[in-house]
Amino acid sequence: MAKKTPARQSCPTNFEKIEPIFNQEFGTNDPIFPEWTLERMPKKINVKRIKLDKNQMFEGWLYGSYNTKGKFRCLKCIKSGIVDNDATWSSAYTTVLCATYYEPDADDYGQDWIGGWIEIKIFAQQCKNCDEYVTAELDDQRCRNFVKWLHRWIAHKFYGYPFSRFGYRGKTIDRHHLANRCEACHAGWCYYRGNKNQ
Ligand SMILES: [Zn+2]
Ligand SMILES: [Zn+2]
Repeated sequence: MAKKTPARQSCPTNFEKIEPIFNQEFGTNDPIFPEWTLERMPKKINVKRIKLDKNQMFEGWLYGSYNTKGKFRCLKCIKSGIVDNDATWSSAYTTVLCATYYEPDADDYGQDWIGGWIEIKIFAQQCKNCDEYVTAELDDQRCRNFVKWLHRWIAHKFYGYPFSRFGYRGKTIDRHHLANRCEACHAGWCYYRGNKNQ
């Protein structure tokens, strides 16, 4: 399959990978929650300004963040022939932000139903070479791990199932993190800054 070039500040490749895993996990794995929908977080949301209350909520939305390891490739540098070492890097502090909303709604025909929405955003990091912001790419296994976490988190938060915290915590040797080039650090969601918002 031909690889798509990720658009700036968005992650179609990640989302296209995650969405079918999400549908499978939420639709067939016990406990099933087929009424939940996964979407990309709209770019207009200023996640930096969001101030969560004690229930981790903001304007009726419940927020959670997940730490994973991502790979970054600066296409701008790669295209201009910069050697790979400078244009690609991986980070043990790669943050996925989830905003969730659950409520009764009515469809176009006035039919009432209950629906849940999950909007996700994967934070970018800035290229050391050209300062371009690059969105992380998650490999297949990390996409699956994220969806498993999401499933358990939703089960816990909205249906009262027990939850054991898990997720990639970052190894001690990976403590090296360029916080000033990390969008999640700027916005206050990065685990590097001790965010434990799971
Ligand atoms: Zn670059
Ligand atoms: Zn960070």
